[in-house]
This record gives sequence, C-alpha cells and structure tokens, in this order.
Amino acid sequence: MQIIHHGAKDGVTGSCHELVIEPDYSILIDCGLFQGAEQRALDIDFDLSRVKALVVTHCHIDHVGRIPWLFAAGFRGKIYLTQASAALLPIVLEDGIKVHFGSNRLFDAVETLLDKRMVAAPYNQWLQPCDNVNYRIRFQPAGHILGSAFVEVDMPDGTRGVFSGDLGPCNTPLLPDPVPPEFADWLVMESTYGQKVHDDISQRRFRLKTIIERSLRDGGVILVPAFSIGRTQELLFDLEQLIHELADDPIHQIPIILDSPMAQKFTDNYRIFKKFWGLEAKQKLQSGRHPLNFEQLVCIDSHSDHQALVNRLTNSGEPCIVITASGMVSGGRIVNYMKALLPDKRTDVLLVGYQAKGTPGRALFKDDAFIRFDEDTVKNNAQIHNLGGYSAHADKDELIGFITKVKGLTKVRVVHGEPKSQHKFKENLLNVNANLVVEAACDI
Ligand SMILES: [Zn+2]
Repeated sequence: MQIIHHGAKDGVTGSCHELVIEPDYSILIDCGLFQGAEQRALDIDFDLSRVKALVVTHCHIDHVGRIPWLFAAGFRGKIYLTQASAALLPIVLEDGIKVHFGSNRLFDAVETLLDKRMVAAPYNQWLQPCDNVNYRIRFQPAGHILGSAFVEVDMPDGTRGVFSGDLGPCNTPLLPDPVPPEFADWLVMESTYGQKVHDDISQRRFRLKTIIERSLRDGGVILVPAFSIGRTQELLFDLEQLIHELADDPIHQIPIILDSPMAQKFTDNYRIFKKFWGLEAKQKLQSGRHPLNFEQLVCIDSHSDHQALVNRLTNSGEPCIVITASGMVSGGRIVNYMKALLPDKRTDVLLVGYQAKGTPGRALFKDDAFIRFDEDTVKNNAQIHNLGGYSAHADKDELIGFITKVKGLTKVRVVHGEPKSQHKFKENLLNVNANLVVEAACDI
C-alpha cells in the first residue's frame, strides 16, 4: 500500500490521507482543518492531479474543514460519505466558512459544489467509485458521532485495507459500539488516546450529578464547552436521564441552556436519524421519553439573546448549566462566557473532550491561573473538572481490542495522535501482537 499523510501525521488535527490505488489514481480519506498549535495555511499544498475522489469518515471540522479549499484547488471528484454525514456536512462547512471569513457569503458556491459532488451511502454496502479502476469501498459504523464510519477498501491486488477514522468508545448510551471489521490486511489507525484509559463511562452520569449538586448549593454557572456534534447530545442524554431518575430532586429546577444554533441543528439531525441510535436510546423513545428534547432544555438562538444571557449570569450568579461551542474554547460563544465568568469562584467548568495543545481548553485542563483568549488574559478562579467518560474517542484498551479482533491483519499504520501517543500505542500494540508490522506516521 502507498499512503501519503497530508494531515494527522504527527498530531490530532488536519486529517487527510491519500491512498494511491494505481500510479495515476488516488483517493483522499478526509480533508480536515489543522487546529490549535497545529494550525497552518489552509491552501491545499499537495498535488491533486491523480486525486479522483474524497471519502469522508465523519463531519468533525478536523476531518472535513478543508473541503472548500479542496474545491478552490480544483478538485471536482465525488465525495463519498454516509447518509447522516451528508446531512451534517453542509452545516459544518457553512459554519467553518463563517468562522474563517467572518461571514458565510462564500458558502453558496461551496453548497452548489457539494450538491453535485456528494454521494450519500448506507452503512454496510459496497460502492464502486470507478468503472476503470477495480476497487471498492464500504462504510461501517464507528460509534464516534452521528454518521461516523470506518472505511473498508478492497484494492485491485485483492488486499483489503481499513481506515479507522475516529473510533467511538464502547458502552455509550446514544450510539452503538463500533464493531471491528471481520478481516483486513492493513489498517490505518487513529491513536488520539493511544496511551490513556478513560474514566468509566457508567460512572460519568453520577460524577455529573455530584458537580451539579454542589453548584446548586453555592450558586454559579456550570460551563460546558462541548463539540456541537456528539458530546453535546451525549450530555443532553445524561441530563435527561438524571432529571428522570431524581423525581423530587432540586436538579429539576436547574435550567439547561444550549447556547449554540449549530448544536441545535446537529441535535435536530440526531433526532431525524434515530435509526442509527443505540438500543438504550431507542428504548427510551419507545417508552415515550425524549432524550434530546425535554422540558428543562432552553435553546438560545440570536447573538443578542446570547449576550444578554452572559450579562445576566455575570451579575446574578444564578445556577444553570450552559452547553456551548467550541469544545476546545478556541472560539465561539463559550469564549464570551469564559471571559465573563472565569474570575467568579462559583463558576464550574466541565471539560468533556480532548483539549489540543495551544488551545485555551488545554490551559483550563491544566488549571492555569490565567487563561489567554487572543489578546485578552483572564484570571481563572473557577472550579475545573475533567470528565473523561464523555470522550467520543475509544481509549487505548478499546483501540487495541478493536485491532486484535481483525482477522488476517499484518500491518498497522498509526496516525491521528501526538508523536508520544503514536509511539506508546505502537509499543503497546507490539506487546499484544509482536507479529504485526506497526509504523507510526510521525516517523515516516
Ligand atoms: Zn472526530
């Protein structure tokens, strides 16, 4: 196999892998944005002349954010993705363009190209993108976010490869666990948490409850920076469960504020694509509950309502839970909340996702005394909590468990991890199976 890594080679962002199928025919797996300390120019800096198609594993911005720049560089091939990803992609790119250019003026042109280029496919169905080149691809559920997939590729030489995309953890209530492919010859594997084991998912709701109870006692806001897709819906799911379980508890009084038009759109799509939910979530629906749409949930749309709420909470300190983007506190409405509320010692911050190097989220994760937001520096007096059970990524043991179930595997290329994580993961993997050929992309 010849695979060139144009991103997520020695970090966790900018995912973009080029699989060369024939000397003059290749496909890209993802085309994402570089973020945080890995940030760089967005222009496509590699030759596109043999790139004939793009395959999207899922719609996180670090996997799809450079698609507009791919179009700008002249790419006119098809974009293969799952049905739910096809619904999410225009929303993600419109927001990405707005964040980058300050307006979504350029989105119309991108949307027209997307309409023409996207090929939405069901899971577990082979697709043959080209009549003249004998290869096929298939999406399988990755359990990471709505629509997420790992991709199997049958090559002209008869071998089968797999790109993991981002793999979700096991035992989350909203999406089914990823099921490893039956067999493969080689695997390109993410390693975001290649050296870490997560907190127990079954305990996360109770840790959340403890923090909410404390906050109700001493007042103040609970701020939750969360990715609009995935993390936000998992949190809503758990909050609904807590409210349901604790019928006479003060938790019934705490408003849960979703201050993100983007997150609302994604939550709507989670509701539309209920058929991809896990068993527990489907059972709740059948019993008449609405895990993503309940009475205490307040949605904030307009920017003026957002600003008014920030001002009100700064003065009143009334208890409430605010869920808003961005997940790494590197932009979006969460920054306004942080600037206003971090100096207040009643404020609680719940970190529920990965915080990349160089982002304010990472500084919060380390509980730095001062947090920098562009040109502003803010004193951090808040209580910081890291709730690992909300990660949308499989941990070290789950990644290794996934790999060891794949029959016939001889070669693994480790990507999508900081170099230390890639090396540690490689070492762990070789300890489990010394016969594998394991390469860290950061060493290539
Ligand atoms: Zn992802």
